[in-house]
Amino acid sequence: MSITIGVLAIQGDVQENIFATQKALDELGMSGNVIPVKTPDEIYKLNGLIIPGGESTTIGQLSLVNRSRTAIKEKIEQGMPVFGICAGMIMLSTTANDRIVGNTNQPLLEFLDIQLERNSFGRQRNSFEASISMDSINIPKFNGVFIRAPSVSSIGPDIEVLSKYEEKIVAVKKGNIIGTSFHPELTQDAALHKYFVNLVSQAG
Ligand code: GLN
Repeated sequence: MSITIGVLAIQGDVQENIFATQKALDELGMSGNVIPVKTPDEIYKLNGLIIPGGESTTIGQLSLVNRSRTAIKEKIEQGMPVFGICAGMIMLSTTANDRIVGNTNQPLLEFLDIQLERNSFGRQRNSFEASISMDSINIPKFNGVFIRAPSVSSIGPDIEVLSKYEEKIVAVKKGNIIGTSFHPELTQDAALHKYFVNLVSQAG
């Protein structure tokens, strides 16, 4: 089966995720299409979706304007795997408060029962890289790139914690939905994108 994975192309680092997913497919020896998606029509055709890092308030508002939000919600309800990275994980959460500003009343998709603290590690200039372990999904060592990253401050009972950094939860999973605070598309290591590609091919 050839799979089609979309990268939501409203705002954020779309191209880097397209490259990383294509690399994952190549390394797995699988065929598939990786495409930028914006419209409901494009989203309805997907087998998997990546919501990239960027600015979650912008992605949320524009997803209402271009009606992609409804299509994404329907597809996830039908079981489509989705990978939310940084702002993308914020989009998937039920509650997101900024560390300084508090509640920004931003539109969220509300699929992961998690409460997020946005900009949890500081501003852009406080960006950093750190070694992360995700033992439960067989990725014992991964270079986490954190850029104005959120952390997960509380989780519901059905949320699996994949990783913590300095006691803060930075990667979670629930069924076919995964979210990371850090940016795997900004490293050379395609392990996490390969994990997601496998989820998509198994769901298909
Ligand atoms: N701080 C951004 C937000 O709250 C996320 C940053 C990122 O995606 N790198 O939306």
